[in-house]
Amino acid sequence: MGLGAQSQIKSIVINSVAPNLYVYQTFNTYKEVEYSANSMFLVTKNGVVLFDVPWQKSQYQELIDIFEKRFHKPLIAVFVTHFHEDRAGDLSFYKNKNIPTFATEKTNEFLKKEGKAVSEFVIKTGKTYKYGDEKFVPQFFGEGHTPDNIFIWFPKYKIIDGGCLIKSTEAKDLGNLGDANVEAWPKTIKKIMQKYPDPKLIIPGHDDWKKLGHLQHTIQLLEKYDEAK
Ligand SMILES: [Zn+2]
Repeated sequence: MGLGAQSQIKSIVINSVAPNLYVYQTFNTYKEVEYSANSMFLVTKNGVVLFDVPWQKSQYQELIDIFEKRFHKPLIAVFVTHFHEDRAGDLSFYKNKNIPTFATEKTNEFLKKEGKAVSEFVIKTGKTYKYGDEKFVPQFFGEGHTPDNIFIWFPKYKIIDGGCLIKSTEAKDLGNLGDANVEAWPKTIKKIMQKYPDPKLIIPGHDDWKKLGHLQHTIQLLEKYDEAK
């Protein structure tokens, strides 16, 4: 890769959504259109917990450096919400740095199939994970964007990190359906609405995340897709 290509990579964009919880965005192109990948990190007393890795591998180290510079904390854990490039990426990078990595058994099965590094630890969905004074719950409510897509619930802040299971209100279509289950997907979204009727904020996997209504919009896109079949 020449210098030209390198310089085209956009800088990481970081926004605070709660006292210790942040959305970070990295950028890449899919079918020649540029998208953001929206992911999160939680700053705890013990260090930073990362939810999904940057979309560009060249920015893995940059993000760790940001944690050191801005928060004076090390990265202490990486949780991934499904096996795709914009979520699990290449976990060997973190393993080589002795940073614990977490994925569900299902995600690891897919990673293995693709010849990629699996996580060191297995996520137990529905379990409350505690780091310092912060907590979160990885949840699996059913298939959708992929068979292994989980989301993260932050109980203290009432925020959901939806990953690619949730489409932005800005999204015009369902995106990459290569591994999707479009029949199960609306049911999965409705389960989230029932369990968490009043979230303060939901972060979709791509595009604008600041508005509300992502869950409803995801269902609308799925209905439109179903009618067009
Ligand atoms: Zn995605």
